[in-house]
Amino acid sequence: MRIPAIDLHGQHERLREELVQTFTRVVASSAFINGPEVKAFEGEFAAYCEVGHAVGVGSGTDALALALRALGIGARDAVALPAFTFAATAEAVCHVGARPVLIDIEPQTFALDPECLHRAVRVHQGSLRAVIAVHLYGQPAPMDEIAAVAAEADLAIVEDAAQAHGARYRGRRVGGLGNAGCFSFYPTKNLGALGDAGAVTTNDGNIADRIAVLRDHGQNRKYVHDIVGFNSRLDALQAAALRVKLRHLDGWNARRQALAARYRAELAGVPEVAVPTPAADREHVYHLFVIRCRERDVLREHLEARGIASSVHYPLPLHFQPAFAHLGRRGDLPVAEATADEVLALPLYPELADDAVTEVCDAIREWAVTRP
Ligand SMILES: *Cc1c(COP(=O)(O)O)cnc(C)c1O
Repeated sequence: MRIPAIDLHGQHERLREELVQTFTRVVASSAFINGPEVKAFEGEFAAYCEVGHAVGVGSGTDALALALRALGIGARDAVALPAFTFAATAEAVCHVGARPVLIDIEPQTFALDPECLHRAVRVHQGSLRAVIAVHLYGQPAPMDEIAAVAAEADLAIVEDAAQAHGARYRGRRVGGLGNAGCFSFYPTKNLGALGDAGAVTTNDGNIADRIAVLRDHGQNRKYVHDIVGFNSRLDALQAAALRVKLRHLDGWNARRQALAARYRAELAGVPEVAVPTPAADREHVYHLFVIRCRERDVLREHLEARGIASSVHYPLPLHFQPAFAHLGRRGDLPVAEATADEVLALPLYPELADDAVTEVCDAIREWAVTRP
């Protein structure tokens, strides 16, 4: 039987009755935009993230752009972000008219390297106004070191927590570690809606208020538009689905961690692949279980031939993408460039069976011992 890289069917089969009941409730209320479901989800998600406020928006990309806008970032400003992340992190910077500054990453955690951020501060003196720390694959970035550089250079800190719902850094949940935390509820994320959705978390009431206005056409009161806003609201149907799923998030993350531990144990004696080893001060929630392998593409084909799907997040660093080619040249960001050639995400989702992990690891071992 084929092992997919990700499979959402199990989760939705199990929750179908409950989801349908909540949809019936929303349909009966006829409150589809804002309203009580959205308010309730925002309160529950803020409590989950251990922050003062959560504001629901249309997507993770919008969460990033609205957070930057709420922090006053715009034209003539520069924003630092890792060169190795999903394109949306850079898109959001461009959407507010600011200039992305790509920073190289740490090879172990895949996060923005604070030393490289420190160098960028000197190069882009004056124009750099914010840094986006991405908790890639579910592991928190080195926030204290990033915060130290940010404090010195007076940078705002935005967390891209789109892959890290529930992760902890030195005991604290992501989303409350900077000025604003940005979440995506794209269906495959650790907490996924049944369509597009996102949220911004913050302990700053002014930022929360600004985002609430920005997401709804810049209106503070009905038909009074103080600023030019957006239409980026969270649908009540999505909020209702997210409320159902939020109750399962800790259990799902624990299952992801158990599967990751199994992968780590079974792959420990295979020197051809490097498994992720989270730093002791962080709780990794394994949005993806990503190994490194010099012969990544050959291994991937071997797995595929055995009916095992895998995926590459991401095959190119941002400056190798046509849309962002102006942000750097080959050789500028060496760790990000090497990483993109070596990463491979193995099958991982909460409903994945232990035996499936063993099957994947057996196939990797088989490849390792028979390769020329
Ligand atoms: C998914 C993701 C986003 C964008 O979220 P959308 O909801 O798809 O807009 C941003 N950053 C990272 C790191 C992501 O994984």
